[in-house]
Amino acid sequence: MLKVENVSVNYGAIKALQNVSFQINQGEIVALIGANGAGKTTILNTISNIVPSVGGKITYLDKEITKLPPHEIVKLGISQVPEGRRVFAKMSVLENLEMGAYTRSDNEVASDMEKIFQRFPRLNERKKQPAKTLSGGEQQMLAMGRALMSRPKLLLLDEPSMGLAPMLVEQIFQIIQEINASGTTILLVEQNANMALSIAHRAYVLETGEVVLQGDAKELASNPEVRKAYLGE
Ligand code: ATP
Repeated sequence: MLKVENVSVNYGAIKALQNVSFQINQGEIVALIGANGAGKTTILNTISNIVPSVGGKITYLDKEITKLPPHEIVKLGISQVPEGRRVFAKMSVLENLEMGAYTRSDNEVASDMEKIFQRFPRLNERKKQPAKTLSGGEQQMLAMGRALMSRPKLLLLDEPSMGLAPMLVEQIFQIIQEINASGTTILLVEQNANMALSIAHRAYVLETGEVVLQGDAKELASNPEVRKAYLGE
C-alpha cells in the first residue's frame, strides 16, 4: 500500500533520516520504534510531505506522492495524528471534528460524525466544550476522531500513548485495534515499544535515522537485542 524507498531528510547539517526504506501492506498495523531523536516523527512528516525529503521515493497505492502537497495526500487517504495531539484549542469538539472533514465534498460527513461519537462516547458528551478543556486522553481521542473524519485508508499515529496513564494507554490501543479491524491500515510511531509490538503485525526499529532491524512484531518482541534496548530489560 505504501512504499518508502531510500528516503533521506536533513535539517540543515543534521541528517535526520538516511536511506530509509520500508513498506506497509493493506490491512496491517506497522510499528516504528526507536529511541528519542531516532527520526520516527520525521518519517511521518515526510510521508505527509510536511517535511521534504532529499532523494528517495514514496509510493502510495502505486502512485508516487513524494512531492505532492500535504492536502492532496490527505485527499488520497493518508491522515496523520500528530505528536502532542495539536487539537484546535479554542474550537469546540464538534468544530475540531468538522475541520477533519475539510477536504471532503460528499454528503456523508454528518453520518461519519455520528460514527465517531459512537466510537468515542466521551467526545459526544463534550461536543460543545472547547478542546483545550479536555483531558490528555480525551484530546488524543479527539485528534484520532479528527483524522478519521477525512476517511483515511492509512492512518499515521505519532506517539498516541504519550503522557497518558496506563489504563488510558490500554484503552487507546484497544481503539487503534478496532480502527484497524474496521479496515484502516495503520502506521504507529511509539516510544512505548512494549505496547506497540503487542498490537502491531510487523515493526521496524530505527536508530539515528536508519532502519536497523525489521520483522514480525512478535519475533522482534522476543529478540534479546530489542528486549535489552527498547523493552527495558
Ligand atoms: P522523539 O520520539 O523524541 O519525538 P523521533 O524519533 O520522533 O524522536 P525526530 O523528531 O524525527 O525523532 O527527530 C530526528 C532528529 O532530527 C533529531 O536529532 C532531532 O533533534 C532532529 N530534528 C527534528 N526536527 C528538527 C527541526 N525542525 N530542525 C532541526 N532538527 C530537527
